[in-house]
Amino acid sequence: MSDVNPFESLQEQVDDAAAHLDVGDDVIDRLKHPERVLELNLSVELDDGTVERFKAFRSQFNGDRGPYKGGIRYHPGVTRDEVKALSGWMAYKCAIVDIPYGGGKGGIVVDPDEYSTDELERVTRSFATELRPLIGPDRDIPAPDVNTGQREMNWIKDTYETLEHTTAPGVITGKAISSGGSAGRVEATGRSTMIAAREAFEYLGGDISEATVAVQGYGNAGSIAAYLLEDLGATVVAVSDSSGGVYDPDGLDARAVKAHKNETGSVTGYGDTEACTNEELLTLDVDLLVPAALENAIDGDLAEEVEADVIAEAANGPLTPAADDVLTDRDVLVIPDILANAGGVTVSYFEWVQNRQRFAWTESRVNEELESVITSAFGDLVDAYESHDLPNFRTAAYVVAIQRIVDAYSESGNWP
Ligand code: GLU
Repeated sequence: MSDVNPFESLQEQVDDAAAHLDVGDDVIDRLKHPERVLELNLSVELDDGTVERFKAFRSQFNGDRGPYKGGIRYHPGVTRDEVKALSGWMAYKCAIVDIPYGGGKGGIVVDPDEYSTDELERVTRSFATELRPLIGPDRDIPAPDVNTGQREMNWIKDTYETLEHTTAPGVITGKAISSGGSAGRVEATGRSTMIAAREAFEYLGGDISEATVAVQGYGNAGSIAAYLLEDLGATVVAVSDSSGGVYDPDGLDARAVKAHKNETGSVTGYGDTEACTNEELLTLDVDLLVPAALENAIDGDLAEEVEADVIAEAANGPLTPAADDVLTDRDVLVIPDILANAGGVTVSYFEWVQNRQRFAWTESRVNEELESVITSAFGDLVDAYESHDLPNFRTAAYVVAIQRIVDAYSESGNWP
């Protein structure tokens, strides 16, 4: 795991794509910096009556195409620059899948395993109270990210609605169904990883049903990508989490591994499997590698040892720019995060549309619409890759996304 600054990685990715676009440096410069970043110190009372300070951030990166959109993560490693990077990736993600949002991201420096549910609720409501003037269904719409889910989203919605004396389910997405959430939202990130991987294999003339797969990170995105790939006939041979990995060359049962993790807290020790480290998993000789944990999982050195033919990034920012260069030279096809994990925000968009209409869609409608958004974005990416003769799919995705944001920005004109 490398300590490359993710915000610098984002800026490098934008520069790489900008070199292929006819857009002024001044316009590109504003697409390399967030419009605003809120930094907070939340004072929250713990169960024992003492008060603890929690650092928290919300970065609003770009709003040219619509309200800021993006998740909130709870992790001890959250930093201001990480949140800024993640907010930028959201802006480009929403643009490549062409949903009418800008990009935002939030984070709290906290290890949720160390706090009680009541303490986490107080931390969440304190953050939501501070965010209230900045968020709203037409301003900035948070969502789940690492270590947050329906529970935290429901608390944030309730805090906002109580303080605003209204009902506004569209202020946040990723809610529980009974609190205005959408069918299919929990599965959506993993589903887009599966769809993007399937399309990439077809593009290369292969067949996903014959692929062997390794998945690093077995939370929501990684585990669901694994089940859905298995449902297509692929063989998931290895999966890991922060405690380590399990490997079986004959294939695991992705759902059974998840049940084991739910029971024991980790994938390790599942069934009759070999143990493997995260690093061993990332360099296994498989057809498809799915990094689904955190940023910087693969750096330039590790990239030299990657044996997979295709990488589908379910995590945000799992490859450093140096890894990208090595994998491009080695002809490994990388499906970038901003497309491969865009299902989450796409179904968040569907949730928001349903909230605005106060009309719920069926799960099959959600999945059909998601299929069409991801396959058409994949097509746009391939068109750009081929017509501009671009070095890799990441640059192609950024070329399409940057152009869409720049078009919206230019069409708005300037204040005299
Ligand atoms: N946190 C997810 C992401 O990184 C989802 C964001 C959303 O639904 O707004 O894409």
